[in-house]
Amino acid sequence: MKTVPTNIARLADRFPDIPFSAAPEDLICYGFDASGLETTPAAIIWPRTTDDVSKIMRYAYEENISVVPRGAGTGVTAGALPSQGSIVLSFEKMKQIIEIDDENLNVLCQPGVTNGRLQKELERSGLFYPPDPASMNFCTIGGNVAENAGGPRAIKYGVTRDYVMQIEAVLPDGEVLSTGVKTCKGVVGYDLVRLLTGSEGTLAVFTKIRLRVLPQPEDIVTLLAVFPLLDSAGDAVRAVIRANVIPRALEFMDRLAIEAVEQFSPTGLPQSAGALLLIELDGHPHAITREAGKVVEICTKLGGDVKVAQDVLARERLWSARRAVSPALYRLKPTKINQDIVVPRSRLTEMLRKLREMSDRSKIPIVSFGHAGDGNIHVNIMVDRADADEYRRGSALVEEIFRETLHMGGTLSGEHGVGLSKAPYLSMELSSRQISVLESIKRLFDPKNILNPGKIFP
Ligand SMILES: Cc1cc2nc3c(=O)[nH]c(=O)nc-3n(C[C@H](O)[C@H](O)[C@H](O)COP(=O)(O)OP(=O)(O)OC[C@H]3O[C@@H](n4cnc5c(N)ncnc54)[C@H](O)[C@@H]3O)c2cc1C
Repeated sequence: MKTVPTNIARLADRFPDIPFSAAPEDLICYGFDASGLETTPAAIIWPRTTDDVSKIMRYAYEENISVVPRGAGTGVTAGALPSQGSIVLSFEKMKQIIEIDDENLNVLCQPGVTNGRLQKELERSGLFYPPDPASMNFCTIGGNVAENAGGPRAIKYGVTRDYVMQIEAVLPDGEVLSTGVKTCKGVVGYDLVRLLTGSEGTLAVFTKIRLRVLPQPEDIVTLLAVFPLLDSAGDAVRAVIRANVIPRALEFMDRLAIEAVEQFSPTGLPQSAGALLLIELDGHPHAITREAGKVVEICTKLGGDVKVAQDVLARERLWSARRAVSPALYRLKPTKINQDIVVPRSRLTEMLRKLREMSDRSKIPIVSFGHAGDGNIHVNIMVDRADADEYRRGSALVEEIFRETLHMGGTLSGEHGVGLSKAPYLSMELSSRQISVLESIKRLFDPKNILNPGKIFP
């Protein structure tokens, strides 16, 4: 058993009211996230208030201790993975929804509240928070803001960044910084809220977040379109948007994704299909009935078989199937090398074709699914880490996929961030000048590099 460095062990004596643990079972539980990587932190601390966070950070700054903020650990690029000798700052005890302001359409909450719980609470007041990562029942708002999370509804409503109005954050030296405005508009000074959103826990620790919310849409229609061919599904995505229909979700699953879900938790998806689209429309009942008609016509012309979910239960069943894809893929192989590339929508079919060619050539299954309406494809290279040769060949595909993505005018990550996993590829997309500007910003906020060190920058 490892001994805890004295300056970290002293945290417990110095702040006896803040829960702290260096017990081996806790170190194991907080030493991994959904990236599949593992390390061992030196300790875990559970602040309850902004003041707790400020005290912890001030002490860590004086003692040069690395601190890794953690929401629910559902991040897939190892953003919350503790670096060696660091303390994990876990937000499980800061999960209060402080204020729902239905007149000014915003909500103030602590970072540890889960996205799903916030959605449910808002629904009771007739309100709606659009960003809906597939991990919404577990992931936290703090983690969503740190990763600038997206989700199926991004095609119509945008991503987390479009909803963050104010952030209360603790800087690495323990000072509290409140930034942003409570009003609909505000342009005084540089936009620090936008800078902090997506900063992956490397610039400041969020302790309160005010989010814009919307009135709930009047009605929703969900459609399932099943295509015999993968290309036809890709073509349908473009045709729907060209017909001036912006669904609130336009999700895609390829054949392997459908098969994996059906083997994991059967929902009746047709396993013989080449691909399927899950299309959801919201708005005034008359408007969405007309739009649904257009979608059915477009998909049918392209060889699709379209069904409309008749009730809430049927709709939830379809969404459960979509949300099950990620865990279901482990049925295929024990290791998932997961990327979330984005290409311009007009190149979606071409990119899907390239991915299929790479899979056929390498004999390594590549499963694609995701937010097709945004051109955001979750590419999953399925291998077995225990098979060194297969793992090496699978990993080599990542660079090829990234090169192709950038060549098409795309980006390496739509919503998962850089973290540790994508850091080695940063310079494929950003110039050395861009990277050096980002590094200067990091130094300005965190001159001692104690906050989530090793993330983003290679
Ligand atoms: C099954 C599955 C489906 C997913 N689907 C989606 C999806 O549809 N869209 C999407 O965008 N992502 C998705 N993700 C990825 C993940 O859920 C998101 O990145 C989510 O935002 C992470 O939230 P978390 O609370 O788990 O954060 P963590 O994983 O704990 O942390 C993520 C990052 O946020 C930082 N952080 C956490 N809290 C704070 C804080 N209070 N202050 C400062 N920094 C903080 C951490 O240091 C880390 O860098 C999915 C993941 C899984 C496993």
